[in-house]
Amino acid sequence: MMNVDLSNLSQPLLLSCPTCGVKFHALRQCRRCGTELSELMRTAHLAWKWRDTARKSLLQGRFDDAWKQAGVAQTLQKTDFGELLLQLAKCGLTRLR
Ligand SMILES: [Zn+2]
Repeated sequence: MMNVDLSNLSQPLLLSCPTCGVKFHALRQCRRCGTELSELMRTAHLAWKWRDTARKSLLQGRFDDAWKQAGVAQTLQKTDFGELLLQLAKCGLTRLR
């Protein structure tokens, strides 16, 4: 059986500038090319909040809620952790049926 630690929600996620591709974290404007990054940061933050909500739902055994919440997070921003949350919620739902 796989052990997964859901107590902590991963380290800050590096994003890529859509214009030049440079990696960044918590910037409003790209240091290399000057592209405005606020909207990208806002979307990433919203996705993070949905992943955190899904994580909490999983820990409480609310798999249906977790599945929906992780799905919203993945729609906003695909991450490996979001995919893991989706798969765990799906496993939980399968076991309940
Ligand atoms: Zn850039």
